[in-house]
Amino acid sequence: MMRRLTTAATKATPVSGEDAGTGKAAMRIDAISIFPQYFDALQLSLIGKAIEHGLLDVRAHDLREFTHDRHRTVDDTPYGGGAGMVMKPEPWGEALDSLLADDDSARRPVLIVPSPSGHPFTQEIAADLAGKDHLVFACGRYEGIDHRVLDWAADHFDVRELSLGDYVLNGGEVAALAMIETVVRLVPGVIGNPQSLVEESYSVSTEGMLEYPVYTKPAVWRDLEVPGVLLSGDHGAVDDWRAERSREITAERRPDLL
Ligand code: SAM
Repeated sequence: MMRRLTTAATKATPVSGEDAGTGKAAMRIDAISIFPQYFDALQLSLIGKAIEHGLLDVRAHDLREFTHDRHRTVDDTPYGGGAGMVMKPEPWGEALDSLLADDDSARRPVLIVPSPSGHPFTQEIAADLAGKDHLVFACGRYEGIDHRVLDWAADHFDVRELSLGDYVLNGGEVAALAMIETVVRLVPGVIGNPQSLVEESYSVSTEGMLEYPVYTKPAVWRDLEVPGVLLSGDHGAVDDWRAERSREITAERRPDLL
């Protein structure tokens, strides 16, 4: 079953993926998984609103819908031996065929395969993906997907194997959710105040460094005071203080970014 993450409000807007306000086509995102329910979380918060407003068209597909046996089998033992199971190529081939048949974007869709052995996913990659028309996430489970699926897909998609970090998850769904959230908050209109995207960790304004610590009211909480410079009204001094904190934190935690 395909889960289209639309609400009653969205159904009232054109299903062609046109954003009623700007006339700009919505970014389309498809996720293929044996647990498509994971993607229901995208209906929450700002991404849910962006879906409602027609900026995003998000669909989750159950890989088992593309099997033909009684047990809806998606895995088999690995050639060459070893522990665990490998995802069979046939259901993946059929699932990707169905998305290609339904793709009307001008450019090749991007196929993102979350994998611990992929290239590290970064803010820079997210910014690039935010400019694409159509992203497809292929969420592996077990020991991963038969590699011929990726070899075949390279003729039809812009294929990217991307890792969320140097650790191993049980499946690609959580990685895909993290990547989707990172990408779509950079799509114009998804975040109400675009300025909040400018002053962030890894951004140009922090010179790619980590963000400085932030504070809000009250000025004193449990005997702890907000740094005085932030109350001074001297914008130059505030900027200098923030830049200095950014450098300190980055030097301590991520010297590779300096
Ligand atoms: N056998 C694989 C290995 O050692 O590289 C691990 C497979 S893992 C148990 C199952 C699936 O989880 C992977 O196919 C991938 O989709 C996803 N996954 C696990 N860790 C990930 C990570 N760090 N980044 C992105 N996806 C990950």
